[in-house]
Amino acid sequence: MKWMDQTELPTPSYVIDEEKLVQNLTCLKRVEKEAGCHILLAQKAFSMFCEYPLIGTYLSGTTASGLYEARLGKEYMPDRENHIFSPAYKAEEMEEIISLCDHIIFNSFSQWRKYRSLCSGRTSPGLRINPEHSTQKGQEIYDPCAPGSRLGIPISIFEKELRADPDLLGGIEGLHFHTLCEQNSDALEETLEVVEEKYGTWFSKIKWLNMGGGHHITREDYDIDRLIRCIKRIRETYGLEVYLEPGEAVALQAGTLVTEVLDVVENESRILILDASAACHMPDVLEMPYRPEAVGAGKPGEKKYTYRLASCTCLAGDVIGDYSFDRELVPGDRICFLDMAIYSMVKNNTFNGMKLPSIVVKEPGGAYRLIREFGYEDFKNRLS
Ligand SMILES: *Cc1c(COP(=O)(O)O)cnc(C)c1O
Repeated sequence: MKWMDQTELPTPSYVIDEEKLVQNLTCLKRVEKEAGCHILLAQKAFSMFCEYPLIGTYLSGTTASGLYEARLGKEYMPDRENHIFSPAYKAEEMEEIISLCDHIIFNSFSQWRKYRSLCSGRTSPGLRINPEHSTQKGQEIYDPCAPGSRLGIPISIFEKELRADPDLLGGIEGLHFHTLCEQNSDALEETLEVVEEKYGTWFSKIKWLNMGGGHHITREDYDIDRLIRCIKRIRETYGLEVYLEPGEAVALQAGTLVTEVLDVVENESRILILDASAACHMPDVLEMPYRPEAVGAGKPGEKKYTYRLASCTCLAGDVIGDYSFDRELVPGDRICFLDMAIYSMVKNNTFNGMKLPSIVVKEPGGAYRLIREFGYEDFKNRLS
């Protein structure tokens, strides 16, 4: 095992703060306990499996977006629950998925019809519904309730299919909705009212209700008491087991991306060329888009020295944002971007032949432990 101090960290590297991770997990466990619900890690946000044994001591298990995540969850949290949702499943993967997953959520009645008999008695099948009630503005790419969404069954289709075949819900044990993104519990409360109004008549036929992810539970201003009230009300009114499957909330603010300044160039402003890339190592910066916070940095003009932070790929738009610092930055200096555990490692790529960031754990005592470094082979292996 390789240990180092902060100045020896390779760059770029994702540094995962285990103390913050445990703080988040403790918060989520309190919700599980006080609300009497089950909380699963949505692996698509954070799949750093060396932390799964730790996560599994706090949470009920994992949820997956497909076969490979389901395998990973089973491998590294073998005695916890393993759930899956995918818009559609491939026939050749279904046997393995059923053998791995405690709950399988289907996105349509046609998928349910296709795999119904295979599931029988071996897993707990559920259906994803689409309450068609948006509680977020602007970000259509992150809104499963946006018009024309493929995610979940709208009530009109739900009712139409059941009229045609009243036995269609036979064997279905749960309903699932996922409509939120980085939201507070008021958005959940509002959504629940719509879900109950539209789908409540079927609650007596099922065992569980999965309220998806997007709950920013570990954020400072999150109203946890309201969340607990919502869950308890559903449990007590309908006798249902309740599941939540946050991704972000598990590792929120629990990681940084450390990068080195390689050069300073000038064109209208001063531009720092970094060895980390938005396109390769923090794609949400370009996709969302947003400007990540950096340690010791302010908004442009706020501090004495303002720079544009950009990467050493060929992509003109591979710009992280404009920042200001108290002192002049020079090649060799390091910059540390905050909140880089989630939707970063899971999305990274080697575009331009960029090196993948190393993975490091910052232990609760403050020591840094190198988990993995990447090299040329990791770039090459996917290309021929
Ligand atoms: C993305 C996703 C989650 C996790 O969402 P977060 O915003 O990371 O909490 C949970 N369930 C489903 C079905 C998802 O698609």
